[in-house]
Amino acid sequence: MFEAPIQRLIDELARLPGIGRKSAQRLAFHLLHVEEADALRLGEAIVAMRHEVRLCVRCYNVTAEEQCSICRDPRRDPTVICVVERAQDIPVLERTQEFAGRYHVLGGAISPIEGIGPDQLHVKELVARIEAEGAAEVIAATNPTVEGDTTALYLARLLKPLGVRVTRLASGLPVGGDLDYADEITLGRALAGRKEL
Ligand SMILES: [Zn+2]
Repeated sequence: MFEAPIQRLIDELARLPGIGRKSAQRLAFHLLHVEEADALRLGEAIVAMRHEVRLCVRCYNVTAEEQCSICRDPRRDPTVICVVERAQDIPVLERTQEFAGRYHVLGGAISPIEGIGPDQLHVKELVARIEAEGAAEVIAATNPTVEGDTTALYLARLLKPLGVRVTRLASGLPVGGDLDYADEITLGRALAGRKEL
């Protein structure tokens, strides 16, 4: 429908979540009409992010270093590990300012339908960390979904025999949604009122 280079960008933009055909066209023509340097900055930011960002060797958070800023921070309490499904859940929990421990990113949740079991997640690495770092509590901050609950119960069954307290965020979170649907106050209360599994 459009000249090939424009169509190519529209097709790429339309593949992004939440961007429909119309928005993709609007964005492509916007980028065509802004200052060239402004448009190129966007392209460079995408390239730089993909080249420079990797996973923290300890917790699988995203980082530009070997370890993420939270793992590198000596003031963080190593005895409490908050387990999340995805790296983008960490800033959501950080904004509550209720948590001073460290995190562990599983990389998803247990979902038999999608063929995701504990072996597809960073569970083994979590167990190794608990032993190496002497963690006393694991907070299962997986999403309030069937998969998130299943994962939390699995972790409780796996970790309790190791002498670790396993807790779950208190209710009050919107059921069925992602953690980032919750506002900071609700999430902060859920964290403070966490219950033993
Ligand atoms: Zn880390």
